[in-house]
Amino acid sequence: MLSIIDIIEDTTVDGPGFRTAIYAAGCPNKCPGCHNPESWDIHKGKKVRTEEIVDKVLADEFANVTFSGGDPMFQPEGFTEVAKAIKEKSQKTIWCYTGYKFEDLIKNPAQAALLSYIDVLVDGRYKQTLRDESLLFRGSSNQRLIDVQASLNKKEVVKYKYNPGLRIKWESGVIPEQSRCCEALFQTFRKHFRHWYIRIYIGKAFGMGVSQKTCQLGRSRSRGQSGLVRIIF
Ligand code: SF4
Repeated sequence: MLSIIDIIEDTTVDGPGFRTAIYAAGCPNKCPGCHNPESWDIHKGKKVRTEEIVDKVLADEFANVTFSGGDPMFQPEGFTEVAKAIKEKSQKTIWCYTGYKFEDLIKNPAQAALLSYIDVLVDGRYKQTLRDESLLFRGSSNQRLIDVQASLNKKEVVKYKYNPGLRIKWESGVIPEQSRCCEALFQTFRKHFRHWYIRIYIGKAFGMGVSQKTCQLGRSRSRGQSGLVRIIF
């Protein structure tokens, strides 16, 4: 059983690609400027069986998974059950956001057990003074994207290197009518990259806080390959 604030399908800001995000209730960190202070109290969450969460995640054959919150590492046993089942039954990647640091998590047996199923950890408390909107998938520059499995193998922190796939610069600089322009671009890319899942991002930022600038035009579930197209106006 886990205490959960919400489960959001197809988010595009909690890690690369489309993801099912499970927002845990409960966080001991209370960072000033936290994006989600209503998640701090574990008693305000809804009790959900771990099997129910796994079923919901697996029902989407395409989306990968993100544990966020709140702090999933505040309920490590339940999230370990979820992560273990997801890894046993799918090839989905799991990202986990936490206010704890990797070096502390590996010393705690319950949290280390959860780490063993995580692909990428975004660690460290959010620090308002280090806020940087240009950062990928995190809010402040002290937070790290960590390749967890490589770090566990090497017994030292190995940073995760994000490969955004194809990056295309849009040269026009003129957007006469945004929606029509996007639709035309989308059709063009669909023709050339029809084996890819395609998302088109509008704006220079790409990561946390970009959702209002994100234009999601469609996707195909019928192909096995995924990719991203980023267009910089
Ligand atoms: S760790 Fe995350 S959820 Fe917890 S207080 Fe800090 S920013 Fe908010």
